[in-house]
Amino acid sequence: MLAMNFRGPFRVRPDRNMPEPQIEHPEDAIVKVLRSCICGSDLHLYHGLVPDTRVGTTFGHEFIGEVVEVGSGVQKLKVGDKVMVPFNISCGKCAFCKQELYGNCHESNPSATAVGGIFGYSHTAGGFQGGQAEYARVPYADVGPTVIPDWMDPDDAVLLTDVVPTGYQAAEMAGIQKGDTVVVFGAGPIGIMAAKSAWLFGAGRVIVIDHLEYRLDFVAKYAQCEAYNFKSIGDPVVFIKTQTDSLGADVCIDAVGCEAKGNRMNTLLGIKLLLQGGSTTALHWAINSVKKGGIVSIVGVYGPIDALVPIGNVVNKGITIRANQAAVKRHLPKLIEHVKNGVIDPKQIITHRVPLEEISDAYHIFSQKLDGCIKTVLIPPR
Ligand code: NAD
Ligand code: ZN
Repeated sequence: MLAMNFRGPFRVRPDRNMPEPQIEHPEDAIVKVLRSCICGSDLHLYHGLVPDTRVGTTFGHEFIGEVVEVGSGVQKLKVGDKVMVPFNISCGKCAFCKQELYGNCHESNPSATAVGGIFGYSHTAGGFQGGQAEYARVPYADVGPTVIPDWMDPDDAVLLTDVVPTGYQAAEMAGIQKGDTVVVFGAGPIGIMAAKSAWLFGAGRVIVIDHLEYRLDFVAKYAQCEAYNFKSIGDPVVFIKTQTDSLGADVCIDAVGCEAKGNRMNTLLGIKLLLQGGSTTALHWAINSVKKGGIVSIVGVYGPIDALVPIGNVVNKGITIRANQAAVKRHLPKLIEHVKNGVIDPKQIITHRVPLEEISDAYHIFSQKLDGCIKTVLIPPR
């Protein structure tokens, strides 16, 4: 089948000879992928920032598909169902899934990295193949996959597999109180949805910080918030203090994660990037600009798990840090309602629609933020 094939940092290619997935366990299903997306999390892999990302991996943890085969143990799904597949692989039975911590499932990835299994990610997240492909194997098919309602646009459905729930959980974890000033670092798909969601939790003011003007323009309109370019406001920490009577923001959200310091030209197969651990600037800004006793909510992904943070300031200011992979399944019922009622219109963030065959260009454009790119949807061949 045709699928994305990771060949090393900054090198991905479409490969017509990737093996078709098979049922490996009675609870598996196979889906024919209808749409998939490229996520900021894929960029950490692409940039060589996540340990144990193996050559031959097919990325893609945001996808919807039609069920074409089910294992003998699958009871809820049937062939022909069209499903959105949460990016977390969750068994539904372990101690963590029972607490609805679907992003921390123990059975799908018992390794020491603590994250649960994730489709199309590094072997630190279980080493599952992903959905930037014609077909994908979906383990624990009765747990995560959710049938797409008839009325729902497939573009909205694919964004419910990660982007919308992650932005929503970022705001939820931030413990926003009525009237709070919320600062979101990053105006990518996740930051955009975090800003939008912050209002749903009662924010009084929402400020988004990035340096890409086209994204700042978009988020200002889409989330009806303030948006500032960190290249023109001076030190963002000082700027936020001036905006908050010197107190700092009530809540800061990190929707950036580990940023690549280099590019294809100055990295040797990603080794330099991995050693450097990437940049943690946004997280520093978040910790340093939240008020004393405030909350920093982190959904940005840090591949090397020991990335340095200003922990001294966390202690001195008595900050609460909340962070996690989003538990997609937990949020879906509410978010499906929000999409139905027009509270959230996810598909507006899609700027690019690219045939799967053109995956190399699609990664380059999204990684370099060219051509006004916010979110790319990949269309497999019919
Ligand atoms: P993206 O690459 O599209 O967006 C990141 C944005 O951050 C860009 O617009 C970039 O210009 C901006 N940025 C870079 N440095 C910055 C800084 N110092 N301050 C402010 N903005 C800065 O990525 P995305 O798809 O929006 O994902 C964002 C992060 O969320 C990534 O780290 C991704 O891995 C993570 N993520 C986490 C989860 C989860 O469940 N926790 C799920 C999905 C994505
Ligand atoms: Zn994602």
